[in-house]
Amino acid sequence: MTDAVNYLSAHKDDVKILSGGQSLLPLMKMRLSKPGFVVDIGRIPGLDDITQEGDHIIIGAMATYAQIEYSDFLKQNCPLLPQTATTIADVQVRNRGTIGGSIAHADPAGDMPAAILALDAEIKVAGPNGERWIKCQDFFLGLLMSVLEPDEIVTAIKVPVTGNDKTAYLKAAPRSSGFAVVGVAARMAVDGTGNCNRAAIGITGVTDKAYRAERVEQMLTGKKLDAQLIEAAAAEATRNIDVIEDINGSSEYRKHLTEVYVARAIEVALRS
Ligand SMILES: Cc1cc2nc3c(=O)[nH]c(=O)nc-3n(C[C@H](O)[C@H](O)[C@H](O)COP(=O)(O)OP(=O)(O)OC[C@H]3O[C@@H](n4cnc5c(N)ncnc54)[C@H](O)[C@@H]3O)c2cc1C
Repeated sequence: MTDAVNYLSAHKDDVKILSGGQSLLPLMKMRLSKPGFVVDIGRIPGLDDITQEGDHIIIGAMATYAQIEYSDFLKQNCPLLPQTATTIADVQVRNRGTIGGSIAHADPAGDMPAAILALDAEIKVAGPNGERWIKCQDFFLGLLMSVLEPDEIVTAIKVPVTGNDKTAYLKAAPRSSGFAVVGVAARMAVDGTGNCNRAAIGITGVTDKAYRAERVEQMLTGKKLDAQLIEAAAAEATRNIDVIEDINGSSEYRKHLTEVYVARAIEVALRS
């Protein structure tokens, strides 16, 4: 790890980290990225481990989507991540693409950023000044931009054991790419009386970065949930959000789709 960080620091302006290569290589092939040096972190030992630390789980940055999708441990202890991984692209991409690469890349339509936001995850980073943890709410800045410095490596993601919480990840995506036009991660906790103790909703594909739908969460938390309340709350999913427009749909269409998918994701989570 130290060698990798030193190399990155020495070539900071002209270097890229290679993880699964599922975003970097297409960009290099199209000459949209032309790094003079590439640092392959794939053989740094232990970077793909998935381990439990008390009531948290540490997922190594090099853990692939496939590893996450098929992990019985994650299915039992943090099912939102396998639920999300299984929706990403195709088998080939899932066999190579990594959770660390997805987060570092900060694609505004990436699925993992929405899931880790709903989990209040923390991101561990190694750099020339040692290691630091970054709250995922503070990590994403905008289109392919994060607080990561060019000589910092994402090494792990810390997520909670979600216990009895109910989770779901749903997305609307064109079959050709699999990228989310809208992706919604929902983490819900409801007590024995039907009261909602926790609503955490992460959304991707809608604006220049994944975000938490705080207004939706506020409207649900502390209330008894029914279809009418869920629909009313979901209608707030894009409040204060600059909804994008692209070849997949107008901003009006995306806004509507987001409301529909937020309500559906909450309902699917509650039934899980
Ligand atoms: C056909 C296709 C379909 C896809 N569909 C989807 C989809 O449906 N949903 C989705 O979310 N994604 C999708 N992707 C993107 C895929 O998820 C990528 O794997 C992911 O975005 C990047 O992960 P990676 O490990 O491949 O990273 P790489 O491509 O190796 O790297 C991506 C970027 O992150 C940097 N980086 C990588 N790892 C680290 C690290 N540990 N620390 C710091 N910087 C790092 C690299 O320098 C590079 O700039 C698709 C990709 C393809 C090719």
